[in-house]
Amino acid sequence: MAVPFLDLKAPHEELRAELDAAYRRVVDSGWFLLGPELAAFEAEFAAYCEAEHCVAVGSGCDALELILRALDIGPGDEVIVPSATFIASWLAVSAAGATPVPVEPDEDTLLIDPKQVEAAITPRTKAIMPVHLYGQPADLDALEAIAAEHGLHVVEDAAQAHGARYKGRRVGAGSIAAAFSFYPGKNLGALGDGGAVVTSSAELADKLRLLRNYGSRVKYQHEIQATNSRLDELQAAMLRVKLPALDRWNDRRKEVADRYLRELADIEDLVLPVVPVWAEPVWHLFVVRCAERDAVQERLAGLGIGTLIHYPVAVHRSPAYADGSWGELPVADQVAERVLSLPIGPHMSEDEVTAVISGVREAFGR
Ligand SMILES: *Cc1c(COP(=O)(O)O)cnc(C)c1O
Repeated sequence: MAVPFLDLKAPHEELRAELDAAYRRVVDSGWFLLGPELAAFEAEFAAYCEAEHCVAVGSGCDALELILRALDIGPGDEVIVPSATFIASWLAVSAAGATPVPVEPDEDTLLIDPKQVEAAITPRTKAIMPVHLYGQPADLDALEAIAAEHGLHVVEDAAQAHGARYKGRRVGAGSIAAAFSFYPGKNLGALGDGGAVVTSSAELADKLRLLRNYGSRVKYQHEIQATNSRLDELQAAMLRVKLPALDRWNDRRKEVADRYLRELADIEDLVLPVVPVWAEPVWHLFVVRCAERDAVQERLAGLGIGTLIHYPVAVHRSPAYADGSWGELPVADQVAERVLSLPIGPHMSEDEVTAVISGVREAFGR
């Protein structure tokens, strides 16, 4: 049985009637930007995240960049980022004009290591940007304690973690601000690009609303220099249909992950994801690690099992950051060499999960 890495049609087939109705509602309204769908989605997503405010923007990358700009972080400032992450975390810092300062992850959880964060702080450091990588929340309390001691902000990159909980509370609910992405492959995906900031600060939310809309509250009155990055009415309407399904979809991801964790546990050469004690992850990705990763991926492909690598090139090895003086980042290097993402998603059948498990067992000669 062939198992694709990801099925992006199934969620929309499940909700087709409601999506069609939402599309018609927006088209019939003739209102395509900064309208009632956006306002409603922002209220609904803030409530979902147990946060006060949501400001939806054009992408997750924009959400991160605009948070930094709203916090007046820019040229001459440093932001601590994980060495092992999707490049967007670093690019957002660079786009704001600040300098990313990479810190290596804990080798078990692959999440930014608070002990190493402390050592990377300089007089220029303005913020720490943990990434809830693969849907696993980073150790927010430990990071908030360090941030409080040094007068820094914690800005969460929650692009892979919609709905994840840290010690019982949603990610994004406790820090100054968190960024989410609605890229189609994320746990909550739009039918195109989209992103959002959630924050408990009314002042920050107000600044973000200016930053995303030409610095303007009232048409043709421009208070600050800003950009154009808005979630449009159609995407907001689509996301309003999908949001009520998110917890159910995340629960199904967890069932799939639990089976992988149980039924692959005896393979010695395979490192399974480690769930930290504080975490209720949402399993955006199920990432295993092994030596000979490329050979394993090839064997799985031969069995019809789709896999991907998140991410094959460590950010500091990418040409975009080749001129940086990053020093040695051996954990990030090793992660890039060894990680392999197995299929996981809310619409996988038990038979598909079984096929992945037997495929992986076979690939390891079990
Ligand atoms: C997807 C992602 C982003 C960027 O989101 P876009 O909507 O694609 O701009 C940022 N950080 C991480 C960790 C991501 O996975």
